[in-house]
Amino acid sequence: MRKKIIAGNWKMNMTFDEGQKLTSEIVNMFKDEAVKDVIAVLNPPFPHIFPVKKLIGDTPGIALGAQNCSAMESGAFTGEVSAKILASFGVQYVILGHSERREYFKEDNELLALKVKQALAHGLTPIFCCGESLEIRMAGTHESNVKFQLTESLFDLSPEDMAKVVIAYEPIWAIGTGKTATADQAQEMHAALRRHIASKFGKELANNTSILYGGSANPGNAKELFSKEDVDGGLIGGASLKSRDFIDITKSF
Ligand code: PEP
Repeated sequence: MRKKIIAGNWKMNMTFDEGQKLTSEIVNMFKDEAVKDVIAVLNPPFPHIFPVKKLIGDTPGIALGAQNCSAMESGAFTGEVSAKILASFGVQYVILGHSERREYFKEDNELLALKVKQALAHGLTPIFCCGESLEIRMAGTHESNVKFQLTESLFDLSPEDMAKVVIAYEPIWAIGTGKTATADQAQEMHAALRRHIASKFGKELANNTSILYGGSANPGNAKELFSKEDVDGGLIGGASLKSRDFIDITKSF
């Protein structure tokens, strides 16, 4: 059975104190409100990794993620953080291929394939992001565009490794814009991605792959999005910075 996952992407936000407050609130609400059957993944900026890990402790259902990792194993790559280092600090997930990384840091499908392999080699679960620009959606080529991102970065993996990958479909036009894809648009794309994964790795593996939706998800629209058959959770930006909203989203299945 595939997992339901809500991953919070803090992006480049939160000072030390703010991050501690947010994490403590999330952990306490998650426990007090007995949130069940969902994995909440906190993905703070790198310096928060260790202190956030300490606050999460062994809380069942809450996991720790990072927002990026290096394509290299180790060595003289100033400013980079490897999957190996992250794993040694107890990180379990890593967001890879976010559209902001693709756009501002010119990460392409080939580089992302290397990052995915690094993550998997060190036991991290990649949350692999894909999604189309508004221009591509208007041109009607969004499905082939997003399938291509998966083919190029993931289809070289062994079935054993692919089975560990989580996908996040994030239409770029919906990220941070307040403009959400409709639940039907999300479902259509998630089903297409699942069929695409099945065409390479088989139906069973595809049916067990969690596919998250990302793009202006919030407590007001999460229920409808998650009611769709192929939407297994969300990658949440803005709303993950507010504990109440984030927890309400985890309770929206
Ligand atoms: C994201 O950063 O992955 C995201 C979906 O952001 P937001 O929820 O703010 O649109």
